[in-house]
Amino acid sequence: MQAVPKTQESTLRAMEAIVGANACRTGEADTQAYVTDYRGIYRGQAQVVVLPSSTEQVSQVLQWCHANRVPVVPQGGNTSLMGGAVPDDSGTAVVVNLSRMNRVLEVDTINDTMTVQAGVTLSAARGAAEAEGRLFPLRIGSEGSCQIGGNLSTNAGGTAVLRYGNMRDLVLGIEAVLPDGRIFSSLRGLRKDNTGYDLKQLFIGAEGTLGIITGAVLKLMPQPRSTAVALVAVKGPAAAVALLGEAKRLSGQAVSAFELISRPALELVLEYLGNVAAPLQDRHDWMVLVELTSGTDAESLNATLMEILESGFGQGLVLDAAVAASLSDVQTFWRIREEISDAQTRTGGSIKCDVSVPLSRIAAFVEEASAGVLALVPDARMVIYGHMGDGNVHFNPLRPRDQAAKDFLAQWYEPVSTLVDGLAYAGNGSVSAEHGIGVAKRDDLVRYKSQVELELMWQVKRALDPMNLLNPGKVLPAP
Ligand SMILES: Cc1cc2nc3c(=O)[nH]c(=O)nc-3n(C[C@H](O)[C@H](O)[C@H](O)COP(=O)(O)OP(=O)(O)OC[C@H]3O[C@@H](n4cnc5c(N)ncnc54)[C@H](O)[C@@H]3O)c2cc1C
Repeated sequence: MQAVPKTQESTLRAMEAIVGANACRTGEADTQAYVTDYRGIYRGQAQVVVLPSSTEQVSQVLQWCHANRVPVVPQGGNTSLMGGAVPDDSGTAVVVNLSRMNRVLEVDTINDTMTVQAGVTLSAARGAAEAEGRLFPLRIGSEGSCQIGGNLSTNAGGTAVLRYGNMRDLVLGIEAVLPDGRIFSSLRGLRKDNTGYDLKQLFIGAEGTLGIITGAVLKLMPQPRSTAVALVAVKGPAAAVALLGEAKRLSGQAVSAFELISRPALELVLEYLGNVAAPLQDRHDWMVLVELTSGTDAESLNATLMEILESGFGQGLVLDAAVAASLSDVQTFWRIREEISDAQTRTGGSIKCDVSVPLSRIAAFVEEASAGVLALVPDARMVIYGHMGDGNVHFNPLRPRDQAAKDFLAQWYEPVSTLVDGLAYAGNGSVSAEHGIGVAKRDDLVRYKSQVELELMWQVKRALDPMNLLNPGKVLPAP
């Protein structure tokens, strides 16, 4: 093991005494994966990375750090796109990674709940629910790595929010360790409990700044009996919104996803995947991936999908459609959608704006923001995609093919994100719909939140973490 400086020795010994030497990581090689963010943009340093295996161990770690004024960075699957899960470069922090706390503790098929440790990956949670004939509906592209604790801490959204809500809507109880080591628990699985403030809400979306989530009780839904999926070329963003209205009207509650995809987004992902054919023959500027799910049989669900498409054709909203004819088609269509994010990361040089506006304004927003960006950078590839059904798009202009990523970002990041975020804000929207704030969007909080909101946030932070030890420098700008 690499020698640690003298100042770190006492930290390391204390952590080893709590979690065991085999659950501590030090030195550059062993900590690299924990101090570098998913996109390789944020790189920090840690005194030590600890991997506790129980809530009791997390509590002892935080007690020790509190007593010794050592900052702590909670970490789940480290798939955050905002730099929130990695330490700064001061080398003073202890990173607490939850991946060893990965047990599903109970699936209660009568209460329709599941109790899990926070380090269970989203895909493992979904798998455990499915094994009991239930659905845990959160669905995001990083599900193989991200963890329930991280999903709660970022209030993750994804492609099924339209039908089931985001992470905040999917949780009934939380266990969290406070910055001083005390354990808060509401792991009771109650759908009704009006006994005062709903304290668990404080930890959801707090990005690890108020405590470390160690467990949760999650809501389960019935597994749908049938799924119908189509990739639909639409006339434009306004036609997409109108089609969504038709889909809701004709299918009741069956629309489970409605994802916008711009032509540059489709071209990028097909180029990245290499071996996947475009589902639609012609090139179209705008497409939507529509998914219906229901408890009825496949035949009637497919008939509903066809009725929606026919109505869309009839009204001139739909230009063409590819309906998935098999499970393999469904998987291919979803793969195309879900790999867009990685295709951008690997290409490099995209300006990520994760914005939301009320659904009634989303079409106008996409059109105005696109025109504004193209007026600045005429050759930008307008990679725009995402959860249009929730009024949330990932509006991510990508560098022109002949410009290097770093030059493009240096020249255009600031003007483009200011323009796009400004239009979202002016449309009563949010400049971070589902990815959180972390470090990347911290300055925007000051720009777009009112003084009262900022003061209240700091008051909550001080009440729970008066020494500012939990994930310092994340979410909240200096007071
Ligand atoms: C390919 C790809 C697709 C994605 N798609 C989506 C999407 O559709 N929707 C969406 O919302 N996000 C998406 N994301 C972003 C990311 O996956 C989510 O934010 C996810 O919820 C983060 O979970 P994590 O376990 O990786 O958390 P991390 O990245 O480890 O941490 C995120 C934040 O939560 C804190 N944290 C983590 N665990 C805990 C804990 N147990 N207690 C307290 N704080 C904790 C960290 O300190 C950090 O601030 C995507 C990311 C990728 C790479």
